[in-house]
Amino acid sequence: MISQKSIQEVLETAKVEEVVEDFVRLKRRGVNMIGLCPFHNEKTPSFTVSPSKNIFKCFGCGQGGGPTQFLMEHENLSFPEAIRYLAKKYGIELEETVASPEFLAEQQKLDSYYIINKFAAEFFEQQLFETDRGKHIALPYFKERGFREDTIKKFSLGYAPNEWKGLLEEASRQNYNAEFLKDLGLVSDKGFDFFRDRVMFPIFNLSGKVVGFGGRILENKAKAPKYINSPETEIYNKSKILYGAFQAKNSIRQLDECILVEGYTDVISLHQAGIENVVSSSGTSLTKGQVQMIKRFTPNIKILYDGDAAGIKAALRGLDLVLEEDMNVKVVLLPEGEDPDSHVKKVGTADFKKYLEEKSQDFILFKASILMEEGMNDPVKKVALIRSVVDSIARIPDPIKRSLYIRECAKLVEVDEPLLISETNKAVGQRFKKQKKEKEQKQLPESNEQPDPFTVEKHSSLSQPAVETTDSKAAGHEFQERDIIRILIHFGGQVFDDKEETSVAAFLLGNIEDVIEDFDHELYQIIAKEALDRLSKGLAIELSYFTQHNNKEIQSLSIDLISSPYEYSENWEKKWDIYLNTQKMPDDNFIKDSQNALKRFRLKKIIRKCAENQEKIKNLGKEGDVENMMLHMRLQQKLIEIRNELANELGTVVL
Ligand SMILES: [Zn+2]
Repeated sequence: MISQKSIQEVLETAKVEEVVEDFVRLKRRGVNMIGLCPFHNEKTPSFTVSPSKNIFKCFGCGQGGGPTQFLMEHENLSFPEAIRYLAKKYGIELEETVASPEFLAEQQKLDSYYIINKFAAEFFEQQLFETDRGKHIALPYFKERGFREDTIKKFSLGYAPNEWKGLLEEASRQNYNAEFLKDLGLVSDKGFDFFRDRVMFPIFNLSGKVVGFGGRILENKAKAPKYINSPETEIYNKSKILYGAFQAKNSIRQLDECILVEGYTDVISLHQAGIENVVSSSGTSLTKGQVQMIKRFTPNIKILYDGDAAGIKAALRGLDLVLEEDMNVKVVLLPEGEDPDSHVKKVGTADFKKYLEEKSQDFILFKASILMEEGMNDPVKKVALIRSVVDSIARIPDPIKRSLYIRECAKLVEVDEPLLISETNKAVGQRFKKQKKEKEQKQLPESNEQPDPFTVEKHSSLSQPAVETTDSKAAGHEFQERDIIRILIHFGGQVFDDKEETSVAAFLLGNIEDVIEDFDHELYQIIAKEALDRLSKGLAIELSYFTQHNNKEIQSLSIDLISSPYEYSENWEKKWDIYLNTQKMPDDNFIKDSQNALKRFRLKKIIRKCAENQEKIKNLGKEGDVENMMLHMRLQQKLIEIRNELANELGTVVL
């Protein structure tokens, strides 16, 4: 394990422009450098590198981060791998700490799992190409499906022999731990090979390591299931893996679109036909984890379905989930009786692409039109249909998108637009309430997730639970909280007062410590708490700490906060309700900026406290508890004094 000290040294040394320039040609423009984005397809550069902030940010696709994130995304490295890369580049000798025996044992076990899966994949491949039954029965199976040899090799397809202990015996010959083979589901509890006489599809994670297998039967035996799969294991979290994602991710990023199909063979066929931005959820409905994985590469998802009734029903299921993630969802129905595999073979790549282009329908409109056909003349069904469509629209976080859909759907289902608007608003309100309630019930969620073996080296304070932010963004004191967090991240490390040797972070955090639990926005709160924790340990709160944060959400938020709109919008002042227009840009003026932000922040919190206290007084009055009522009235007086003082300083009037 790399020591924290070494990680820090690397992070402090690595210069983003030097790291990026190994892969992207950059030109100087003012204080920044620009180039063509390596993460999406573009002709005019929107990929910006800021040497002074040590970050990159693409204003086309939104990718951004520090030197390590660039390597992690571009070169597909884990965090420790990126650190090692940088250490080598800058000639830094890494200090390795001694990990606890339990940690090492766990780490070794996980490493062994990957090694054994790799061994198994190679064994199956070798069986396919080098044994009689492999060559004469399994290989023809793939060839009949039109798979070329380079395609078979690209997906590491293989063959599990028709033997009870073929894999197991080879594994013991090579001294692999038989218990581990059982853990991975390669060998059954009774000690026999789990996959027998099947063609094999290894399943890769995003880093290209084999995490499990799918096996398809060769001949259609009545009793045996057509496909069997590895069980969920410590390295195979099915809800987070998509088949083909490893092979597809670069193409998805470049074309800015992900095509989702149902089966392994659909993925492989389309790949072979030159359509490489394809993944499969392996027949099950999409999970949140899978959608979030796609979202790392593109917000656009196109789902291909067989054009039969079951295909259509499947199209409607599970897709609301994708809407919640603010993805753009299109649906394509294939001609009746066709699947992607068969159709691309029939019409060829060019026509297939054309078909996808022409026949793709927006998911919500598709859903509305399908339900329309069913419920056109039945008023009861029509009500249910409107409910269902409204429910889908309400899940879209972006209000502008929502209103566009309402307009379209109102036309489509022949309902008055205002009615649809009010129904949708109701549904949005209900969803918001429900989420808030869930959040309140959920006290600091204990993460049940399996450790991600690639990032297992990260230190614990970085592994915060993932946070829902979409809805809370719209509510409460988000603006003031965001402002505080922006200054904390951007200028936290700078000196606020050189006489007292306080940093901006210490000043801000010292002033909000008492209200840190009152944050409305969960992610901002997590950042504030983490910063406070670092401060109390005497650790620095540097910009790079946040822009290179291992929590993807914190990291990209940091990049957003310090990039736009404060630098790029001419009218940035107008966005501030009570900002002093005569002030310089925040970059030159972070002290004044911090003080004012803090005042606005506290003013909001005080106003809320006043209202809460007023309510309390009212209730105590009703209960006749005079003594306590007097106490709270005195408190109210004090609160109002502070409130007025703050408002006065900010030149604002509180009603
Ligand atoms: Zn880009």
